[in-house]
Amino acid sequence: MKEKLYTIPINDAFREDCECPLCAMHRQLEEDALRLTMAGYMVDDQRMESNQTGFCEKHIKMLLTRQDKLGVALMLNTHMETVINHLEGHKPEPVKKPLFGKIKDSGNAVTDYTEQVSGSCFVCNKIDAIFKQYLKTICYLYKKESDFRNTLVSAKGFCTKHYGMLYQAGIEQLGGNVQENFLTDITKVYIENMKRVKEDLDWYIQKYDYRFKDEPWKNAKDAVERSLIKLNSIYEKKEK
Ligand SMILES: [Zn+2]
Ligand SMILES: [Zn+2]
Repeated sequence: MKEKLYTIPINDAFREDCECPLCAMHRQLEEDALRLTMAGYMVDDQRMESNQTGFCEKHIKMLLTRQDKLGVALMLNTHMETVINHLEGHKPEPVKKPLFGKIKDSGNAVTDYTEQVSGSCFVCNKIDAIFKQYLKTICYLYKKESDFRNTLVSAKGFCTKHYGMLYQAGIEQLGGNVQENFLTDITKVYIENMKRVKEDLDWYIQKYDYRFKDEPWKNAKDAVERSLIKLNSIYEKKEK
């Protein structure tokens, strides 16, 4: 059962002391996907997939810092070959401009392909497939396990993006009272913790005023970094 499979990483992330457990899960999936990409670029099946998709800007940069350059060159080389093969034989079909108005923006096979290939990423695909299952499992655990409900309501909230994704998952996965309770709980946890971080950020800003310069920092020292998690989902794993 898929729900059981993902229980451990979800509970681990919710136990972590961080501003968004879903960011923590996402980061771990990203690590795993990058490792898989580097380990598997000589494996035919995987190579066939990454040849089609290529990599997004963020992940090709991450691969370049972790992988030897030759490994990256090999992946880029066969992906490039795929793109060339796809576009090279394409015979342009002139589209007549209408007398009035402009050409409708869909239905051109070349641009459809270039948009699709430049918008797809082997690493993102790997992450997204499992992340979707995580969202479903969170809803499942909320419905079935009171321990998990308690953990969720005492978490430090979520980033804005993941709060929205959880909200959508709740609507899709849960019904009736459970759905209503879930949406109420995640909203309360999200808003309360946004306010907590905003208060820290307020104090961080105040500290720049000379009148408060000798006051203690309280929890404000890393308020900017934690605001970046809440608003931009920029999550760095804490060194242990
Ligand atoms: Zn997040
Ligand atoms: Zn990517």
